[in-house]
Amino acid sequence: MKKVAFYTLGCKLNFSETSTISRQFEEKGFEKVDFQDTPDIFIINTCSVTENADKKCKKIVKEAKKISPNSYVAIIGCYAQLKPREISEISGVDAVLGAAEKFRLIELLDDFAKEQEVKVLASEIQEATAFNNAYSINDRTRTFLKVQDGCNYGCAFCTIPLARGKSRSNTVSSVLEAAREIANTEVKEVVLTGVNIGDFGIVDGKRQEKFVDLVKAIDEVEGIDRIRISSIEPNLLTNEIISFCGESKRFVPHFHVPLQSGSNTILRKMGRRYLRELYEDRVSKIKTLMPQACIGVDVIVGFPGETDELFLETYNFLNELDISYLHVFTYSERANTRAAEMKEVVPMKMRSERSKMLRILSEKKRRKFYEENLGQTFTVLFEDDVQDGKIHGFTENYIRVAAKYDPMLVNELKLVTLDHINEQGNVEVLEPEFVYEKH
Ligand code: SF4
Repeated sequence: MKKVAFYTLGCKLNFSETSTISRQFEEKGFEKVDFQDTPDIFIINTCSVTENADKKCKKIVKEAKKISPNSYVAIIGCYAQLKPREISEISGVDAVLGAAEKFRLIELLDDFAKEQEVKVLASEIQEATAFNNAYSINDRTRTFLKVQDGCNYGCAFCTIPLARGKSRSNTVSSVLEAAREIANTEVKEVVLTGVNIGDFGIVDGKRQEKFVDLVKAIDEVEGIDRIRISSIEPNLLTNEIISFCGESKRFVPHFHVPLQSGSNTILRKMGRRYLRELYEDRVSKIKTLMPQACIGVDVIVGFPGETDELFLETYNFLNELDISYLHVFTYSERANTRAAEMKEVVPMKMRSERSKMLRILSEKKRRKFYEENLGQTFTVLFEDDVQDGKIHGFTENYIRVAAKYDPMLVNELKLVTLDHINEQGNVEVLEPEFVYEKH
C-alpha cells in the first residue's frame, strides 16, 4: 500500500479540495499519512495569493525530499496553474497539474512511477470549466463545503480568475446531497465556500440558479446546527439574503464582506462593482435586522494611487462603520494584472505603515464588539482547541470564547453567558457550572 501525504497552502477552498483529493486516494487504496511519516507520494496544493508562493513551494519540496528522498512529488493548485514551467524547474518535483487536471491526479499520473522528465499537465485556464465538488473533513467540528469556483469579475489586482477560471457552481440539489452526507457525521457547522460565492448558480456557462435559492434550500437540511457564509461580495449580498439569514434556523449572524477600499476613487480604479455608499447600506441593513451580528471586512492598503488623503478616507470610513474586525492585506504587485501596470505606486514603507494603522483599528473594533456583547447569552460551539487548561470555541456571531477545560465540551453546542475579556483577548464565560445544555 503506497503512502501519501498532503500539504495545503492558502485559502479554505484549497483545504476543502485537498481533503476531497485525499479521499479519492483513500478510496483507491492509498494510505494517507502525516508529512513526516516517510510517504511515497507528496501532493502539495499551492496558492497564488500567498506572499512568496515560489519560495514556500521550494521549501516544502525540499523538506519532502529530506523526509523521503525517493518520493514522488506532485504540485497542484493556483500557483501550479499560473507558473507551471517555473515549478517544473524546482529540484525534486515530478509533476505539475493545473486547475483542470488536479481532480484527475490519480488517473493522470500512472501509478506515480518516476520519469526522466517532469510531467506538466496544465491546460489553458479557459479549459477549467467543470465544477468539482469538495468538502473538508479534517476537523469534526466544522466543514468547508465548496459550492462555487472561479470568478468573472476581473478586479484589477486579482490573479484568481487566471488561476481558477470562470465562475461555475454546483447545483442546489447536488449541494444538498453533500450537506445530507455531512449531516450524518459528527460535524456541527458547515461553512459555504467559494471564490465568488454570491455568484453561485452558473452551470455550463449559463445562470441556472441563484445563491439565495441555495441559502433557502440548505437551511432545511436536518442535522446541521450551523451554517456560515465564508465571504460574499457586498453587491451580491441582497436584502433578501440578509432578511432570510435574520430569520433562519441555521444561518448564523456573521458576515464577511470584502470592502477593499473606503475611497470611491480607489474602488473605481480597482474595478470593484460597488461604491462605499452601497457598502454602508449593507452594513446598516444587517445591523438593523441583527444588532448582534458580527461583520468582518477585507481591506487592501497601498493600491496604486492611494494618496494619504484617500487612505484617510478609508480609515475614517471604517472607523465610523459598525463593523467587528478587519482582514488587512498589503497590496503587492502580481504579474499579468492590470494593477501591476498602474502608475502612482505607493512606496513599501507607506504600505506597511497603513497596514499597521488598520490592524490597530481592527483590534479596537473587535474589542468594542466583544464588550458590547458581554453579559449576554450565546451558543458556543466548543472545538478541540485546548491551551493552558482552557477550551475554546466560537459563538454564532463569531466571538472567540474560553471556558475551563472539560473533555465533555469538545464538539458540543452550549449556551453560555459572556463574562469578561481575558488577557489573550478572548471572552471568558462564567464558571463552567453556568454552561447549560442547548434546548
Ligand atoms: S471578485 Fe474577488 S476573486 Fe473575483 S476578481 Fe475580484 S477579488 Fe478576485
